[in-house]
Amino acid sequence: MNQTTEQFQATAAFAAMMDNADSLKAFKQSFFFPQHNGNDVIYFCGNSLGLQPKSVPAAIETELKSWRELAVGGYFGGENPWLYYQDYVSLSMAKLIGAKNNEVTAMNTLTVNLHLLMQSFYKPTKQRFKIIMEAGAFPSDQYAVETLVKINGFSPDEAIIEISPREGEKLIHEEDILSAIKTNANELAMVMFGGMNYYTGQLFNMKRITEAAHEVGAVAGFDLAHVAGNVPLSLHDWDVDFAAWCTYKYLNAGPGATGGLFVHEKHANDIETPRLGGWWGNDEKTRFKMEKGFIPKPLASGWNISTAQVFNMVSLKASLALFDDAGIDNLRKKSITLTNYLEFLLKQLSNISFEIITPENSDERGAQLSLFFKHDGRRIHDEMHNNGIIVDYREPGVIRVAPAPMYCSFADVYRFYEILKNFK
Ligand SMILES: *Cc1c(COP(=O)(O)O)cnc(C)c1O
Repeated sequence: MNQTTEQFQATAAFAAMMDNADSLKAFKQSFFFPQHNGNDVIYFCGNSLGLQPKSVPAAIETELKSWRELAVGGYFGGENPWLYYQDYVSLSMAKLIGAKNNEVTAMNTLTVNLHLLMQSFYKPTKQRFKIIMEAGAFPSDQYAVETLVKINGFSPDEAIIEISPREGEKLIHEEDILSAIKTNANELAMVMFGGMNYYTGQLFNMKRITEAAHEVGAVAGFDLAHVAGNVPLSLHDWDVDFAAWCTYKYLNAGPGATGGLFVHEKHANDIETPRLGGWWGNDEKTRFKMEKGFIPKPLASGWNISTAQVFNMVSLKASLALFDDAGIDNLRKKSITLTNYLEFLLKQLSNISFEIITPENSDERGAQLSLFFKHDGRRIHDEMHNNGIIVDYREPGVIRVAPAPMYCSFADVYRFYEILKNFK
């Protein structure tokens, strides 16, 4: 399936042939699809809320049964003793982001985890207090950083440096990020970047950003909301300090599912690394002694605070089993071809005018293409929905299309193209 763009064909038969050759095609059957006129919809919104794996209802019933039959005994008994529930998902998530098992845990939700991690890693002084982030970051991240600097007594205007696309452009130049890090070398405390911008789909080079931050004595953390389960990473080897992600987008764990976080072992192993503590992060040997003095686990789970949110992790555990089966490298390989095919098809269109604002290079994007329509964006979005294709629309005229490789096919992508081709 190593098709290059030149070998692609804009025909339904070609799409069917690609699906036939796809070793991951069976995973589509592992998901429930919303219905449209009695058929499964084509779902390109996995970057917003992933589909429900068919294994989820039974997985939830398993924990309902433990609760029903064992009550408090469910913490230590039953199929999945709840005491360790956060640990059941960390190995699978560690594989997705290239971390060691002890560097990953699950707790809370994304923005909360960003706040908690920034409490550990943002240690401003009068000289060194600035934070570099991307302009146009997801609003929740903007609010988190804005309130963080305020609570530390700084004004957002002086403490936050936003890296913008250049005049008239939509993507951020990597050299502009790196040069801002250098320019602010003596005042920079932290780089807190999205791994991928939610709007443009631009994937940033986390390795190089981390290196640059470390060179000037700052820490580097990333929001992986649009990356986890989409693009494989090597956070440990890249020496990233911390990261957090939600699990309801590409990871298909359902609305409000428990989020994931990464703390590099050089910080996680050190129980002196500052943090806001709670009993679930305490060493298990002393947790139930209820004694004075917090002794964190020398692991990322030393950041846990509260009792494991079992029912918010059940579907995550079920969904991650599919990622273990498929393998993130296989998913990525399919994803690159699938997204390239979508791009190839879009470039055949001459009846509508639009711009693909996502980077062209596969290394700088994941499954998502963001299409900017100067006219008719809203109408095209509605036309898709009328034809059973779920995509999302953001003003002013951007349709984000995310063919998640776990449950989207080449035929799905072809159908999207066909509707655009016939659009009047
Ligand atoms: C989806 C998303 C969020 C959402 O955060 P929650 O705390 O889970 O609501 C935050 N940041 C980014 C970059 C996102 O894409």
